[in-house]
Amino acid sequence: MASVTLRDLTKEFKEVVAVNKLNLEIRDKEFLVLVGPSGCGKTTALRMVAGLEESTSGEILIGDRVVNDVSPKDRDIAMVFQNYALYPHMSVYDNMSFGLRLKRTPTGKPWPFNATRTFSKQEIDRRVNEAARLLGMETLLQRKPKQLSGGQRQRVALGRAIVREPKVFLMDEPLSNLDAKLRVQTRAELIKLHRRLGITTIYVTHDQVEAMTMGDRIAVMNAGLMQQCDTPLNLYNHPANVFVAGFIGSPAMNFVPVTVKAEGDTVKLDAGSFSVALPADKAAVAKAKVGSECTLGIRPEDIYDAQLAGLVKPTPGNTVKVGVDVVEPLGNDVEMYLTAGPHALIAMINNKTAAKAGDQVDVVFDMDKSHLFDKATEAAIY
Ligand code: ATP
Repeated sequence: MASVTLRDLTKEFKEVVAVNKLNLEIRDKEFLVLVGPSGCGKTTALRMVAGLEESTSGEILIGDRVVNDVSPKDRDIAMVFQNYALYPHMSVYDNMSFGLRLKRTPTGKPWPFNATRTFSKQEIDRRVNEAARLLGMETLLQRKPKQLSGGQRQRVALGRAIVREPKVFLMDEPLSNLDAKLRVQTRAELIKLHRRLGITTIYVTHDQVEAMTMGDRIAVMNAGLMQQCDTPLNLYNHPANVFVAGFIGSPAMNFVPVTVKAEGDTVKLDAGSFSVALPADKAAVAKAKVGSECTLGIRPEDIYDAQLAGLVKPTPGNTVKVGVDVVEPLGNDVEMYLTAGPHALIAMINNKTAAKAGDQVDVVFDMDKSHLFDKATEAAIY
């Protein structure tokens, strides 16, 4: 059993509150991604779980044990960093087994992880060979780091963590040194590895695509505060506020300031230069906001060329006249920069569109997929 529980975990650096009352329960065997923009407190949160940073207040539990006062080496965790310094003069085998072989660091200071354990040669051999097999590195064990590719080196760093057989993996942007193609490949390998090993993992990244593709659940942080924690699809379909809605999804969701208006049974969102009507279920919720200012959220992929709308039929209630500023073909879709009065929009339109830069065209908003946020609190209304 290796759940990790954070209760009101807080870290203050003088006037900066890096992590503000973080509450999170990472389940046994779960792959949880902590994501957010630079400086939001992800690394600080992870370092507190590792014991490399002392918390200002709050509790950290690994399983049922409060570990705030437990030293890093006794927490049964292994950490993989962005900068995975390997020893250049040692073979892959020696790099991977180093932490198991040494009870003391070369300086005589205690080794941060598992320092109190000693392992027999057979046990070290078993663990390194097992990790090498899992990582597909059996034939590379005698090579030196300089004889490996970037991806292979990153796997050695992972191997070094795996051989400790920890209860929890902590990973801080472990793929950010790899080029784009290798990152995608290694991402898939990491997910497979997690499925096989089933070790509870907390993975930090600022890349929302990485978060979406890897996490069982994703915790989105901003300015030290956790915004929402849920499965990738729930975050995408039901963002709790404007920040999460704008952070998850690429290109980002469009936001338009609107006033909620009622006309008989119809509830409309009036953006000044255009207005759109809400479907019945959303209208029922938005009715409480009639007369108030809100923010309409619509994802680029939920805007269609009215000529090709398909299932989302153009109606007076969901059609918007726009000017086409820029058209960027991306293959299957075309990214279009549009203007509707003073509002700039981005749409991902099927490549069969005939719209060209400079045209005035009708687009259809799929209002079933739209989002509405309170202007003041930025919380989702539906
Ligand atoms: P990045 O993705 O850029 O690594 P992050 O989300 O991991 O960012 P942290 O490194 O956790 O963010 O930093 C959170 C906040 O705490 C930032 O404002 C940072 O400047 C501040 N901070 C972090 N470490 C220290 C420190 N040792 N002393 C003072 N302030 C710090």
